[in-house]
Amino acid sequence: MRYEDKIVEEVQRASDIVEIVSQVLPIKRTGRHFKGLCPFHQEKTPSFIVNAEKQIFHCFGCQAGGDIFSFLMRYENLSFPEALRRLAERAHIRLPEPSRRNPSEGPSEKEKLYEINQLAQDFYHARFCHPQEGKAAREYWQKRGFDEKLAAEFKIGWAPAEWRQLYDFLSKKGFPEALLLKSGLVHRSPKGPFYDAFRGRLLFPIHNLQGKAVAFGGRLIDNSEGPKYLNSPETPVFHKRQELFGLYLAKKFIDRNLPQIFIVEGYLDFLRLYEKGFHTTVATLGTALTPDHVQILKRFADEAVVIYDGDQAGEMASLRGLEVFLEGGMNVKVVRMPKGYDPDDFLKKESAEAFKKLIQEARDFFDYELEILSSRYDSSQSLGLVKITNEVLETFTKVKNPVLLDRYLKRLAGVLGVEELSLRTEFSKLQKKSTAASRTPGALPKSQPKTDFLFQDEVLLLSLMMEDIEIRDGALRELTESDFKDSKFSGLFKMLSSLHAQNSSLSWSQLLNRLEDEGMKERLIACISLEWTPEKKSKAFKDCLSRIKNRQLEKRLEELRRLVAKAEHEKDLAGVDRLASEYRDLLARIRQDKDRALDSPK
Ligand SMILES: [Zn+2]
Repeated sequence: MRYEDKIVEEVQRASDIVEIVSQVLPIKRTGRHFKGLCPFHQEKTPSFIVNAEKQIFHCFGCQAGGDIFSFLMRYENLSFPEALRRLAERAHIRLPEPSRRNPSEGPSEKEKLYEINQLAQDFYHARFCHPQEGKAAREYWQKRGFDEKLAAEFKIGWAPAEWRQLYDFLSKKGFPEALLLKSGLVHRSPKGPFYDAFRGRLLFPIHNLQGKAVAFGGRLIDNSEGPKYLNSPETPVFHKRQELFGLYLAKKFIDRNLPQIFIVEGYLDFLRLYEKGFHTTVATLGTALTPDHVQILKRFADEAVVIYDGDQAGEMASLRGLEVFLEGGMNVKVVRMPKGYDPDDFLKKESAEAFKKLIQEARDFFDYELEILSSRYDSSQSLGLVKITNEVLETFTKVKNPVLLDRYLKRLAGVLGVEELSLRTEFSKLQKKSTAASRTPGALPKSQPKTDFLFQDEVLLLSLMMEDIEIRDGALRELTESDFKDSKFSGLFKMLSSLHAQNSSLSWSQLLNRLEDEGMKERLIACISLEWTPEKKSKAFKDCLSRIKNRQLEKRLEELRRLVAKAEHEKDLAGVDRLASEYRDLLARIRQDKDRALDSPK
């Protein structure tokens, strides 16, 4: 799907990256840039900059970068057309119907997988509503105390206990088998036939941040064999580590004055809370919370309130869950449900007001952990005291906020009645151990700067060409497409050269929009975000140019050596003469270039 360049440019002109970014992140003007903490990696000192003049952003820490579209795409997990539509709406620009890049090119694989999930959602919801087929499922639904309205709103589905209902339905729509397998909704036995993944289960469609169905969670409604809950497997459109059930709804309801989000364990807990008016809720998909989850939640809320079951398994799960929040730098509180209750049971028996009270009484992680540990170990015995201290201090090593940490240490000393100083000594020992552990090679963060290839000559040269008309002029005189070994580079070079020939000038972001390769875009932006003086700029250009050209010349030199040897072998004397003379000329030229480079002022 593609919109005309013209309309993309119109939307871009009508939007301001500083305005868009500052709506979601605190950024401050410093000199020519706006600066803030990067939303794409964890950091304590700001290395995320927004350049108003060039309408781009760049992070010197993790190298994320791009224009206003890439920002929205990354920050809100949108596709390009979605980001474009969002900005167009803001600017009151009417978008025409998108044209296909190429008439023969159909929708992408991801688009087809979205379509399959959407069709499956409608198919299964129709089975749920079917008078006979869905009877048992609807009875179960009612028995759990839910009504039809909620089933319709969440498109609750029913997968009958049949082997190939969905498979037949989707095959008839013409989807190829390979794609059906990829959707995770259809499986194939090793040699045998295809069969539906969900059979005899009540289905909860799982939606991504944009509200598109991407997967399903299925629950058995009787005592038939198999796990009680079953989720779709990982697919190109469904990543368990990143999705949270209901977040696409919850994000719309979050109160800017009290940015809190409730986290429950199951679909039914979620639906009960939602039904009772607790709209800012999400559910984990039967897996532990991941650092990815926390990073996504942090975009929409400041504080997570974890509401797990009152049993011991729930307590342990919430302790583990808490640490992910602390490590991710997100504030977290815990609601302790009365023993034997899960949130669903509680809300069925008690009022929403009573539940609200539980939430208001939510404890921060410190109190919660201490309470659990104190019920397990006896702090009046020295062994118990050591156990409690060690466990709590271990958690403290995950706290990113130094002020909070200081307060916690003081409180811990008070609660346990031990010397604050000895606690601090013990703590710094632990802290050293944990930083040492995180420095082991395997634990490197994935956002390591890729400096070596980031500022590669070709990328730097192309970025300078994109930015500076005079440099573009010079480069086009000196270089040809064949001087670039990588097709990504030669492609961009070709684009710049044809723009130059048409005398058309494009803004930075317009140029970026025409690039397909996201990695290439980020590298170019990293280069552009460097602050150049005009002298430095032209020096950088000359250096890149000569290195690129020299590489080409050296390559030709090597080739000539081979050709001379071949001509000698074939006794082609005229050929040897011709090649050898080219070889000598080339060698002289390379020497000259090198001397010149050495002479030129640094
Ligand atoms: Zn970053």
